[in-house]
Amino acid sequence: MSYLYAWKSLPNQVDIICPNCGGHAIFEIGLVRHLQHKQEVAYFQKSPIFDYEARMNSGQKQHYVIGYPNLLGGYNETDLNLPDGYDIRSWLHPEIRGYSRHQDLGSYTCSQCLARKKYRLCLKDDAYYKTEIKQQVLWALNRDSLIDLKHYIASNKRDAFAHQQASFLLHIPTVFKTRKSRKLVIAQIDKLLADKR
Ligand SMILES: [Zn+2]
Repeated sequence: MSYLYAWKSLPNQVDIICPNCGGHAIFEIGLVRHLQHKQEVAYFQKSPIFDYEARMNSGQKQHYVIGYPNLLGGYNETDLNLPDGYDIRSWLHPEIRGYSRHQDLGSYTCSQCLARKKYRLCLKDDAYYKTEIKQQVLWALNRDSLIDLKHYIASNKRDAFAHQQASFLLHIPTVFKTRKSRKLVIAQIDKLLADKR
């Protein structure tokens, strides 16, 4: 059975297997903000680059707009005709206050088949850098996190905070971290790094 990592701090971009052609695609997480007025629901429901979502939060219905930064590139402000109070540029800068990141909804772009689509991410299935060891899936978010993982597994100290992608390393299942598994895990990571350039 595959081990599903508990993952709360996904980076903005993840390397994935293209759901359309099986090549190498880039997934980007969707950005969420509050809907300003209920009359805007229809606009966001119809839009190809936004979605509307209602969720119960502390007993109250909350209304959200999800935007997909890597789908925005093909549109300009005039084409979109956004409702008042929304600025397309702000969707491209997630650090702006008032936005949060969706847990798993985003979109991907593929340089091989040129697909650009909304997509719900499942890391253990979608990760481009993944391999199976002892019937469990070992995956990394991108090439840098795979290299970090290799150094972490190879080190004697196993101090996740000594590496750049500490929050990712803290979620690596124990089965991959035992001394017995070390050689095998490193060999598999090296193979992945060589195969997936
Ligand atoms: Zn593709």
